[in-house]
Amino acid sequence: MSIKLHFRLLFALLLAILGIVVAVFFISLSWEASSRALFGGIVGFVLVIGMFQYVIPARCPKCGQRARLELKGTYKYQCSACDHVHDTGISAEAD
Ligand SMILES: [Zn+2]
Repeated sequence: MSIKLHFRLLFALLLAILGIVVAVFFISLSWEASSRALFGGIVGFVLVIGMFQYVIPARCPKCGQRARLELKGTYKYQCSACDHVHDTGISAEAD
């Protein structure tokens, strides 16, 4: 999977999970449902991030090997084989 698609898909999924959790918070007035949604959301985040880091890796544009997402100032993908770094240019830190 290309880095661009990998990054977009990862964020789309995380936003979808966040959206579901927020929706349950607003729709349901029960504390139990809200706390379950929050727990499910956290588990979902961990699963999605883990899946995108290890199961569906992005491919290095230079050599086609596995590139891992790193959070160092900006979101970067670093290749495990040739050390090529692809910077998405998007800041990981909220200002
Ligand atoms: Zn590479």
